[in-house]
Amino acid sequence: MKLLVVDGVKPLEEHFLRGKNVHIKFVTCGKEDCKCKKGYRHGPYYYIRKKIRNATKDYYVKLPKEKLGFQYQVVGSALLVEVQDVEQIPDYLKQLPIFMVTDKLALRQ
Ligand SMILES: [Zn+2]
Repeated sequence: MKLLVVDGVKPLEEHFLRGKNVHIKFVTCGKEDCKCKKGYRHGPYYYIRKKIRNATKDYYVKLPKEKLGFQYQVVGSALLVEVQDVEQIPDYLKQLPIFMVTDKLALRQ
């Protein structure tokens, strides 16, 4: 079944990143008329900084869909989660409003 978890992106990211020494970055891009030039920078991007010999290297952190135990899609700040059973949804997402999605068109507004 497909469920829409309202405002689920942040709790999911926080849960995944918990316990890691993660840095957050907001960036500007190369496009001339982009909103990021007016202060609305892109992001957040999460990265881990590692020291290898004398050099530091940044590794971007991406949410691993497989390890989370369910498939999901990001829809704005909501998550479209695909599970066999409601029990598959982790507790940290259960505190948020969840709607059953029967029609994909319901997501377009
Ligand atoms: Zn930009």
